[in-house]
Amino acid sequence: RVTLPSDLEIARAAELRPLTEIAAAAGLDPEAIIPYGHHVAKVPTAAVTEEAARERAKYVVVTAVTPTPLGEGKTTTAVGLAQGLQKIGTRATLALRQPSMGPTFGIKGGAAGGGYSQVVPMEDLNLHLTGDFHAVTAAHNLLAAMIDNHLHHGNELGIDPRAISWPRVLDVNDRSLRNVVIGLGARGDGVTRQSSFDITSASEVMVILSLASDLTDLRERLGRIVIGYTYDGKPVTAEDLKAAGSMAVILRQAIDPNLLQTTENTPVLIHAGPFGNIATGNSSVVADRIGIHMGEVLLTEAGFGADMGAERFFNVKCRASGLAPDAAVLVVTVRALKTHSGRFSVVPGKPLPEEMLAENVEDVRAGAANLVKHIDIVRSFGVAPVVAINVFPTDHDSELAEIEAIAREAGAEVARSTHVADGGAGAVELARALMTALKTFEVDFAPLYRDDEPLETKIEKIATSVYGADGVDFAPAARRELAKFTELGYGDLPIVMAKTHLSLSADPKLLGAPTGWRLPVRQVRLAAGAGYIYAICGDMRTMPGLSSHPAAERIDLDSEGNIVGLS
Ligand code: ADP
Ligand code: MG
Repeated sequence: RVTLPSDLEIARAAELRPLTEIAAAAGLDPEAIIPYGHHVAKVPTAAVTEEAARERAKYVVVTAVTPTPLGEGKTTTAVGLAQGLQKIGTRATLALRQPSMGPTFGIKGGAAGGGYSQVVPMEDLNLHLTGDFHAVTAAHNLLAAMIDNHLHHGNELGIDPRAISWPRVLDVNDRSLRNVVIGLGARGDGVTRQSSFDITSASEVMVILSLASDLTDLRERLGRIVIGYTYDGKPVTAEDLKAAGSMAVILRQAIDPNLLQTTENTPVLIHAGPFGNIATGNSSVVADRIGIHMGEVLLTEAGFGADMGAERFFNVKCRASGLAPDAAVLVVTVRALKTHSGRFSVVPGKPLPEEMLAENVEDVRAGAANLVKHIDIVRSFGVAPVVAINVFPTDHDSELAEIEAIAREAGAEVARSTHVADGGAGAVELARALMTALKTFEVDFAPLYRDDEPLETKIEKIATSVYGADGVDFAPAARRELAKFTELGYGDLPIVMAKTHLSLSADPKLLGAPTGWRLPVRQVRLAAGAGYIYAICGDMRTMPGLSSHPAAERIDLDSEGNIVGLS
C-alpha cells in the first residue's frame, strides 16, 4: 500500500467518461437519464430500453466472512470484480449503497472502494450526492413533526405519548442527541415528552426507499408505517396522520438510483443506505431491478457477513423484489481468518501485531471454520458460492494457497484478487472464477422460510440453520410482542435479525464458527412500512458517536477549493 498514491489522488486522476456513453453501453436510453452535474445522473426505471428489458443479467450478491475490526474490503472487492468482469469482456453493473455522512466524518473517511478500484467522483459519492439522504431525513422528520403537532392540537387519535416509537433522524454522528426532551418552553411550543434521534441510515424511511419497487409501492409502504399506539393499544400509522402523501412527494426523486462509474468506467448504481444492524444493510430493489437489465452480470452489495447481509438479501430483499440470485461472492482476507483463529487481539486503527503478519499457515487454518460456515450458508440458499481472496501486500503465498484449498474443499470456486493495487487487471482471475461458478453450479434459489410460518419459527430457523445456534431463548417481552404482532395481522412478515456482525453468534467475542450456544432474543419490533419484524439480540446503537479524533478534524479544503483528508 505504501507505493500507491492516496485514494483521493487515484480517484482524481481517473479518466471519467460521459455518463450518456456509459448508460448507452449498458442498455439505457441516454436521453432518459437525468444529469446532476457532469458525472452523476439519476436513472428512472423508464430509462431501461425495450430491448434491454428482454435481457436478464446473472444476479450476484457480494458479501463476506464474519467481519473483523480490520475491514475485509467488500466494497473494494465488489468494485474490483465489476472492473475485472469488464476486462474479460463481460458487461457488468455494480449496485452499492450510498455511504452515510455520519461515518464519513466519523471513523471511516470515504467509502467508495480503495486504490485502483473506486467509484468516482468519490467526493460526490461520500458527501451529498443528489440529496437522497436529505430527502429521507426531511420525509422522516416531517412525520415526526406531524405526530407532535397532532398531540399539540388535541390528540384526536388518542395517541399514547409514551408509546410513540418514531424518533427524529439526522445524518450526523451525534451521541448527545440519543436521548432528548422535546416540547420544552411555553404552552404554544408543543407537548413535552422524551424522544430520541437516530442516524438517517437507521430511519425506516431509508429501508422503505431501499425495498420499494416503485413510487406507488413507496407511497403505500410509507402509509403503513406504525409510529406508535393509541391509549387502547391500536397501532397508529402515517396514513392515520395523513402524512404519507407529503412524505412520498419529498422522496419522488430519491426513488431513482444514481449512476456513477468506477475508475475504469464500469457503470455503478448508488442507491439508499439502510443501516446494517437493525435494518437490511442492502442496496436498493429499484437499483437492482434496473441493473438486472444493464448487462450480463449485476453485482449487488450486502453489508456484513453472509449470516447478516446476505441472509436478509435472500429472505427479505429478494422476497420484496421477486428477483432470484444466482451466486454469492464471499470476500475473505488472510488477516480475517487469522483473527478468527482467536489467537490475536486486533485493535481498529492500530498497526497489526507483528506475529500476525508473519507467515503462518496454521493460523489461517485455525480460523478457516468461519469461511467454511459462510460457504455452507450460501449453498443452503441454493446459490453458487465464490470465494474472493482480497490480497494485501503483506500476505504470504502459502497462506493464500491454504485459503484456496479450504474453499475448494468446501465446494466453492475461489480466486485471489489484487484489485486495490492493480484495478480490474488484478481481478481477472476472480471474474473468471465467478463466470465458471455461474456456468457449473446448479442454482436452485429458495428462501429459508415461508410467509405463513409463525414468527417464532422464522427466527428459530435463522438462528439454527444460518447461525449454527442450538436454539433461541425468547425473553418474555419478546414472546408477548410476537403474539401481539401476529394478532394485529403482521404474522406473515419476514424477519430482520438485529445482532452483532462481529460473530456468527450474538456475542462479538465468539470468533470462528461457534457451536453449543443459544441465541437470546430480548425484544422484537415492528417495521410495518418496510415490511418486516426485527428481533433484537444485543445492544444495537442507532445513533453512532464521534471518536476523540474524528475524520472531521482532518477533512478540509485546500487553497484551490479541493477537498483534502477524505481518505
Ligand atoms: P467493507 O466494504 O468491507 O467495509 P472496504 O472495501 O470499504 O470494506 O475497505 C475497507 C478499507 O480497507 C478501505 O479503506 C480500503 O481501501 C482498504 N482495503 C481494502 N482492501 C485492501 C487491500 N487489498 N489492500 C489495501 N487496502 C485495502
Ligand atoms: Mg462497504
